[in-house]
Amino acid sequence: MRDGGQNPPWAIKNPIKVRTKPMYENEEKVVEAVEFQDETIVCKDCGNEFVFTAGEQAFYKEKGFMNKPKACKACRDAKKNAQREPREYFTVTCSECGGEAKVTFQPSEDRPVYCSACFAKRRQPRD
Ligand SMILES: [Zn+2]
Ligand SMILES: [Zn+2]
Repeated sequence: MRDGGQNPPWAIKNPIKVRTKPMYENEEKVVEAVEFQDETIVCKDCGNEFVFTAGEQAFYKEKGFMNKPKACKACRDAKKNAQREPREYFTVTCSECGGEAKVTFQPSEDRPVYCSACFAKRRQPRD
């Protein structure tokens, strides 16, 4: 007793230690597993059935996603990959026919660019 009993009666002499550790390691998961059930969904992209598992449902809820997935994992991954590498197209005027052409590279001024049709024509051996 450092204060020699000078503390007012309402002073906390023995502060309660708060238990921060969860009682069970997977406490949350145990609760979620009861709440969710595997669900079969038909993919809107490929038409295949896929399982929206209880674990995934718990994950969705945790993330705050309101909607169920509409596409299977393969289709979703494909879409994700497509978004990750956006293909940039440049619209150019074909040097051969003057038509509009889309190319995936940055065209340079001094080089002729061709639409796919003219490009294919030029690659064919001439008689
Ligand atoms: Zn699919
Ligand atoms: Zn052309």
